[in-house]
Order: sequence, then structure tokens, then C-alpha cells
Amino acid sequence: MIRLTSGPTSLTVLATYQCTAACKECCFECSPKLTQRLSLPEIHQAIDQASAFASLRLVVFSGGECFLLGKELVSAVGYAHNRGLLVRCVTNGYWSTSSHAALLRLRPLQQAGLTELNLSTGDDHQAFVPFGRVVTAAITAAELGIRTLIVVEGNDSAKFQLQDALADSLLQEFMRDHPNGALLSVMSNIWMPFFMDSEITHKEHLTRDPEIRSDLTGCDNILGNIVVTPTGMVASCCGLTMEHIPAMKLGSLRDESIVSLYQQQLSDFLKIWIHTDGPERIILWARQYDSAINIPPTVHPCEACAVLHQDERILSILRNHYHEVVDAVMHRYFATQAVAQLVADL
Ligand code: SF4
Ligand code: SF4
Repeated sequence: MIRLTSGPTSLTVLATYQCTAACKECCFECSPKLTQRLSLPEIHQAIDQASAFASLRLVVFSGGECFLLGKELVSAVGYAHNRGLLVRCVTNGYWSTSSHAALLRLRPLQQAGLTELNLSTGDDHQAFVPFGRVVTAAITAAELGIRTLIVVEGNDSAKFQLQDALADSLLQEFMRDHPNGALLSVMSNIWMPFFMDSEITHKEHLTRDPEIRSDLTGCDNILGNIVVTPTGMVASCCGLTMEHIPAMKLGSLRDESIVSLYQQQLSDFLKIWIHTDGPERIILWARQYDSAINIPPTVHPCEACAVLHQDERILSILRNHYHEVVDAVMHRYFATQAVAQLVADL
């Protein structure tokens, strides 16, 4: 196979939006009612095609709830592992009703080549999956040598916070005393409000106003990741608002190869600009031509990205003035690409 030197580092397979849970703020509105899924041959096809990129390192199985794929998940993990790739599964841990049950699900995945497990929890998730199952799943996975991360919904108004997870005595004991303790970690990730009646709140310091924050960077997800959705749609990113931004949908895996769909993005300047500067800085730039444009009070770059793609005033300014920044943006883009290549070659 001819391998392409420049491309994504990860492939995300959203094999289904079906989930055992139906979290209030799920970005893909997953629920038990959604049944569409990729077939195993389609998952293999996606992995085969994405493997044409020498840059590819990681396959992520997410959703929806990827553990609903059952034995097909084990087969898909093995398929990716056999191509020399790291493999991560993202789950809510519903299946971990006991240590024995967790072992029954995780050992075949570990033997197939699973290297990382991400477990999601927090107020919304715990309406469906008790935190105890997440703890059992995390400890069992780390005991098997799988690098494991518990991700807690980051939401200031939540009852269950990062410190509550960190205070769990079983987790503390495992991380302190077990030889594989360092394989288990816990972090918090912004849990973004999706609906008008959302109860989620975030402290002001989390808002991402580029006029007051100098640390906002470009988006690594776009161009760094390539995504396949349950309908076989290839997408530019697995951002939280991806399903709400038509421009992120590249085309169908059933009609065109992932390589060709990925490479077509490289002639879309806006995608390169988002990758290089991030959506908030682009909105700030557009504002110089229309001071009525608001910098949205977002807590996550994907929120700003949705605004950027949906606000016709911003889009019109970008269409009329983008040529003024092409040279500077492309210069920064190629510079970061060169650095990334150097690091990869080390
Ligand atoms: S567990 Fe994850 S995929 Fe399932 S509904 Fe909740 S946020 Fe969505
Ligand atoms: S910021 Fe935009 S391009 Fe980046 S992950 Fe979010 S939706 Fe995707």
C-alpha cells in the first residue's frame, strides 16, 4: 500500500448513536431508540482507508455507546490493532455491574489490542449509570494494563464534581497502592449546554472571549482527526457541534474513499484557518469589519465554531476578506505542520 505522509493522526469511529443512556446534554442526542449503525465491514473499510495515512496512530471507538456492538467491537479493536494502531474505546461503563462482569467485557478487548479506555460520568450520566460501575470498570481495565481515564462532566452547577470522583476511596487506594495505579487518571471536561432550558452553568473565568484570553489556540481536531458517523458519513471532526455544522460533513464512505474526502479539505481555506487560529479568533478578526458582531459567551470552542458557521454576517465578511489573511495563515499552518513532522520523526 502507498502510504501518504501528511494526514490525520486519529480516526474516530462513531459506529452507532444508540446508547443505554439518554443524557440531557448529549451532543449527538444519543438514546436507546436510535438503532442505525455501521456494519463491521464498513468499520474495517474505514480503518483500511485511513491506514493509508502514515500519520495515523490511533483509532477511537465512540458513539453512542460502542460497547453495544458486542463481539463486533472486539473484532474491530483487533482489526485496528493488527494494523499497528493504538485503540481507545469511549463508554459510559453501563456494562460494569460487577468486577466479574467488567472482566468478561474487558479481557477480550485487551487481548484484541485495546490500549485505552475512557469512561464518562457526571450528573447527566449518573441518571443512567451509577458511579460505582465506572469505578469498577476503571479499576478492572487498569489492572489489565489498559490506560484508563475517567472523564467527569465539567459543569459548575453539577452536584457531582471532579473532586467527588477523586475522593472515591477505591480509586484512591488503587491509584496509590496498585502497581498499575499510574495507568488510571481522572479529569474534568467542559460539559456544554445544548438546549435553551439547560441547567448547566460555567463560571465566568471559563468563557472563551479572545479579547481577554491570550491562550486560545487553533483546533487540533479538524485535520488532525477524521470521523465516520453511524450513517457512513465522513466528517472533519468529532466536535461537540459537528452534527450542527453541515460544512463538517465531507461525504459518504459508501461513495468515496476517506483519503480523497480528507484531502479535499485541504482546499477549504476556512478549515485550515480554524485548525490554525481557532473559531474564536476568526470571529474576533471578522469583528473589525462589523462591530455589531458579538463575541459569543462560549465555554467551548465548538460553540463558537457553530456560531461562526451559522452567522451569515460573519460568513459574508469571511467570503469578502479572507484573501487578506491567506498568506499569514498558510505560513503559520505550514510552520506548525513542519514542527509536527519533526516531532513525529524523532
Ligand atoms: S453516555 Fe455519552 S453517548 Fe450516551 S447519551 Fe450520555 S453523553 Fe450521549
Ligand atoms: S472547533 Fe469546530 S472544527 Fe474544531 S472540533 Fe469543534 S466543531 Fe470541530
